[in-house]
Amino acid sequence: MSALRVALCGNPNVGKSTVFNALTGLRQHTGNWAGKTVDTARGQVRGAEADWTLTDLPGAYSLLSGSPEEMVASDCLTFEAQDAMIVVCDATCLERNLNLALQAAEACPRMVLCVNMMDEARTRGMEVDTALLEQLLGLPAVGVSARNRQGLKELKRRVEEAARGRNAASPFLIRYPEEIEQARNAIEAQIKKAVPAIAAAGTARFAALRALAGDDGFLSHLLSESLEAERDALRQAVQVQKNALERAGFFKERLVGAVISEGYRAAGELCRRVVRRPAQSAADRRQLRIDRLLASRRFGIPLMLALLGLVLYLTLSGANVPSAWLSETLGALEPKLAVFLSWLGAPAWLSEPLISGVYRVTSWVISVMLPPMAIFFPLFTLLEDLGFLPRVAFNLDRCFQRCHACGKQALCMCMGLGCNAVGVMGCRIIQSPRERLIAILTNALMPCNGRFPTLIALTSMFFVLVQGPAGSLAGAAILLLLIVLCVGVTLGCSRLLSATLLRGVPSAFALELPPFRRPKVGQVLIRSVLDRTLFVLGRAVTVAAPAGLVIWLLANLRVGDAQVLRLLAEALEPAGRFLGMDGVILLAFILGFPANEIVLPIMLMTYLCQGTLVETQGLDSLRALLVANGWTLKTAVCVALFSLFHWPCSTTTLTVYKETRSLKWTAVAVLLPTLAGAVLCALTAGIGNMLGI
Ligand code: GDP
Repeated sequence: MSALRVALCGNPNVGKSTVFNALTGLRQHTGNWAGKTVDTARGQVRGAEADWTLTDLPGAYSLLSGSPEEMVASDCLTFEAQDAMIVVCDATCLERNLNLALQAAEACPRMVLCVNMMDEARTRGMEVDTALLEQLLGLPAVGVSARNRQGLKELKRRVEEAARGRNAASPFLIRYPEEIEQARNAIEAQIKKAVPAIAAAGTARFAALRALAGDDGFLSHLLSESLEAERDALRQAVQVQKNALERAGFFKERLVGAVISEGYRAAGELCRRVVRRPAQSAADRRQLRIDRLLASRRFGIPLMLALLGLVLYLTLSGANVPSAWLSETLGALEPKLAVFLSWLGAPAWLSEPLISGVYRVTSWVISVMLPPMAIFFPLFTLLEDLGFLPRVAFNLDRCFQRCHACGKQALCMCMGLGCNAVGVMGCRIIQSPRERLIAILTNALMPCNGRFPTLIALTSMFFVLVQGPAGSLAGAAILLLLIVLCVGVTLGCSRLLSATLLRGVPSAFALELPPFRRPKVGQVLIRSVLDRTLFVLGRAVTVAAPAGLVIWLLANLRVGDAQVLRLLAEALEPAGRFLGMDGVILLAFILGFPANEIVLPIMLMTYLCQGTLVETQGLDSLRALLVANGWTLKTAVCVALFSLFHWPCSTTTLTVYKETRSLKWTAVAVLLPTLAGAVLCALTAGIGNMLGI
């Protein structure tokens, strides 16, 4: 038997990914804020009667009109025949979510309503009568707590029943004003005749409503899918019905307004009967008080900074010991690897680059990156799961609005702190194409995880001269200052872009503040370690290993007496000096294009003029080496600045190209941070020279 095709849809942030993960065993990104599911994902579910292919559609508020992601969801439901559909709702705000469910029921009567977050509803003292809801809707409604995996068995059973056509014959349908119903019936008949895909999917009734009240692109899509012979008749039928509606006073806005308000009215009536909520509960009052504090003008931003500072402090103070241990352990394995290679009979020209190039760069990357990531990512994911990120966006909204950009950009910025490629992809949550582009072009101005090791090492070597907790505290404060500087530069560049290349006024948007949810610590740990830490590390290693080989070759190839690496560094010396650094540092940044985390090791290798990467021998000896090569406080500041602001890494650059499909905008995304860095470094170098430091 072929696999059942089941679609999963729902408003953003109702737990759709959690349901998807629980059913398929896969790991979609989850987090407590609206808009993180921007892709459609597919997974396999082992059902009792048959296997299914479950398609997770992007979160949508409406299937009739809206963002590109909502169109994707709506198109999939309209044009692709589904055996069944699951609509996920949040039990704690059913009224708002039911509107989408009612629209979806029109598209696919083989629908099952998954009333998720029943546990949270109970905690808040709410009662949701799913049996009554099922009766009123004429559609299966199952209470679920996806996070605790409760109710999933029943959900699966009901989905399979629905797929076999065992739903009640007459599901609840919204009654629109008579004129709209008539127009819709006329078009529905025509669509059934003209568009075989829709006739097969059984979605003509919904498609007719979308043709009348939906987005403009839909009609062209509909016509392109229709039979050639019937196309004109269909186009005409839609036009005739639209004209008739206009004569009855239903111009586009009023028509859309009537459809939406009927949906909400029906949802409201249903909820009044099935949901019983207590007067404002203690939990609600507490939440309101916390939100007032977090979003207040006076305390909002300082509290946010304090929390970020705490995360950085914990990262810094916790990473030292495991970093040193990893570096020692991996270093101790090196001679063993050499013995092993010679036992295999590998010749020196092979074992030398493998050990001194590939292995050493890789083990550097692992020992320097893994511990801070393993602390930073889980802490960051905890804040995300708690619902903290939308509050950050809320607090920064005013600043972004003033720069004619979108407040949601703050969310992408936060994601950029982990990895810029992820941040760039996350920009899809911004609806306005102009604002989305601004967010994409400025994302690399936030330091990603790959740059933190360099910044942390510089901070400990040159900016903080005390050891122990006080040193970690001072280090965290400096890192925090650097991040604040990045936010400032992001805002400045956003303003610059919106005054030049991307002119326009900021769009209005509604930012949802989700309730604070107690994060599931175990799941957060697993998710952040597997999905983020190991993913980023894996990528860094796959880039660092071949890069290690190239660097080894450059260091060992000679022209006359000089290493190629040295010659290149000498060629870059004037540009490096102008920027307050030197040729070696600039070369390291250029060779670090594949991954930011290998910039520091390349620098050290070139300074030592030796064909292999140096082993980490503690920060003191590193500092001595750098100082011996002419580093001063000015050099360290310029390297830190250039590390924050220079071209994005190869993965991010490729992601920008994929998202914009434009070489021009990709070039801007590369040039913008580079210019920002060059200006800041040249200024710092000038001031440093004047002061003689
Ligand atoms: P999506 O945007 O619809 O994909 O939502 P997610 O799956 O990312 O979930 C949003 C938030 O709700 C996350 O913090 C989840 O941990 C949380 N969540 C999901 N399902 C449940 C549930 O059944 N109960 C509770 N209390 N929280 C849940």
